[in-house]
Amino acid sequence: MPELPEVETIVRDLRPHLTDRRIESVRAGRRPLRRRWQKAWATQLQGSVILDVTRRGKWIVMPLDSGHSLVFHMGMTGQLRAIAAAEPHDSHTHLVFTLDDGTNELRFRDIRRFGSVTLFADPAALEEFFTQSRLGPEPFDIDPTYWRTRLAATQRCLKSALLDQQLVAGVGNIYADESLYEARLPPTQRGTDTPRGEADRLRRAVAVVLRRAIDQRGSSIRNYVGGSGLKGQYQEEFRVYGRTGKPCPRCRTGIERIRLAGRSTHFCPKCQKVESEETRAKSRKR
Ligand SMILES: [Zn+2]
Repeated sequence: MPELPEVETIVRDLRPHLTDRRIESVRAGRRPLRRRWQKAWATQLQGSVILDVTRRGKWIVMPLDSGHSLVFHMGMTGQLRAIAAAEPHDSHTHLVFTLDDGTNELRFRDIRRFGSVTLFADPAALEEFFTQSRLGPEPFDIDPTYWRTRLAATQRCLKSALLDQQLVAGVGNIYADESLYEARLPPTQRGTDTPRGEADRLRRAVAVVLRRAIDQRGSSIRNYVGGSGLKGQYQEEFRVYGRTGKPCPRCRTGIERIRLAGRSTHFCPKCQKVESEETRAKSRKR
């Protein structure tokens, strides 16, 4: 499933190809996506100019000059590419947006059809949708007080907290594991047992790990390719994710895997130990 770095990569790839481009027509396939595509939307989109390509959580948002917003979710296997109209069509292509004079197209392909393409009438309707989805803040601008308070208030473990899209938007299984390793915190530690210093460390680690992944164009596992068709490279740099039994890059201890919050969870049992009161007191003085 594409996570935030992969979605951000698609956004960055597509932006130069789509900004200021006009949608001439839309062709939709018959098989339903997770949210049903409405026929009226094709008519409403005709002649609209794409003003920008942006991201909110794992949603790709394209504001249009008509005031509408075209919104994509990649689900498990979604692919969104700007491509020459002459290029052959892949199977599982559900929506084709013809651009400008018809030489180029924006194509949405999704093998498992957990993704969606939706048209929102105006920015208020879009905001309402995100509010209803209770989408948390972007991981790059989490308010430190908000983060500490929310962690302190939860009995859930840190792994589970990171996966909660209402707490922070866009972090999935891979980057939750990598962030906890970066912060040297045990995935099993309860939010409420996390002192302020450790909460701050985790907040910073999430941003560091996601930035690093974006720099590598995200991680290519299974069907993900960026908007340009190029694969991500970050999977080469996983410290713990998918590395069960392999040596920890810091201390060479074997990486362990457990089941937590319903997901497989990878961590170093040595680097990510619960800190003793003594160690915590020391790091407070530093
Ligand atoms: Zn280690």
